[in-house]
Amino acid sequence: MSDTGSVKAALADARRRGVDLLDAQLMLARLLGSTRTRLIAHDEDLLAPEVVARWAVWLERRRAGEPLAYLLGEKEFHGLMLEVTPDVLVPRPETELLVDWALELSSTLGDTPRILDLGTGSGAIALAIKRARPQTRVTATDASRAALAVARRNAERHALDIEWIEAFWWQGLEARRFDLVVANPPYVREGDPALQILGHEPRSALASGGDGLEALRAIVAGIERSLNSGGWLLLEHGFDQAGPVRALMAAAGLEDIRLRRDLAGHPRASGARRSSGPP
Ligand code: GLN
Repeated sequence: MSDTGSVKAALADARRRGVDLLDAQLMLARLLGSTRTRLIAHDEDLLAPEVVARWAVWLERRRAGEPLAYLLGEKEFHGLMLEVTPDVLVPRPETELLVDWALELSSTLGDTPRILDLGTGSGAIALAIKRARPQTRVTATDASRAALAVARRNAERHALDIEWIEAFWWQGLEARRFDLVVANPPYVREGDPALQILGHEPRSALASGGDGLEALRAIVAGIERSLNSGGWLLLEHGFDQAGPVRALMAAAGLEDIRLRRDLAGHPRASGARRSSGPP
């Protein structure tokens, strides 16, 4: 019997089109409402014609560079399965380091620290912190209403209580103070070829002016007013932006400026503390 239309044939088709095998297995499992393991064990199974038709569309979308997470509609981040749509940046593993850092610091910031995630997107950072440290009070903002809708659904999915605010950076937060401010803002330079590669994701979550520092500058500019003394600011940034970010933090009067690297060894996040001494 010909295996046209079988699981095996569908995966061979993916390979011919240059789609990664693991991605292809996850996609096909999703289309079948099955699991990757079951798929592998039953690769002679025949696919219904409507699955074959949808498969062709998905393969083409993936081949054209659409992130796997948008096709699957979800992405795992720091142990949480999160809904993602093209309205939000796909949460990246390197951003988990920002969460780990925030978790380490949160225990030094009192019993119920107030934490702010600026530009939360899918809610990834805010939700991961809240889940690991339920006693924290977490606020998260985004300028995109559509992104916040995704974030809210993720909070519901995991029964996590976050204060969501639709706002552009510090807008509307002028009177608020926090013990920890975290952000993975857009930091790619306009004109950077990476923007083309990442073209399926929201540009507003990626691009940040000619030097890629516009959002980072806006965030640091509001920090003096918004950070309690002894509180921390943690920022993700580009691999080549540690120097400028350090300079911004120092100019804002922050102390104890530290750098962390991602798993690839690239400088990826900087943190600094507001002096706990008298003003
Ligand atoms: N780390 C992302 C990338 O270049 C950029 C995310 C961002 O700008 N915050 O893939």
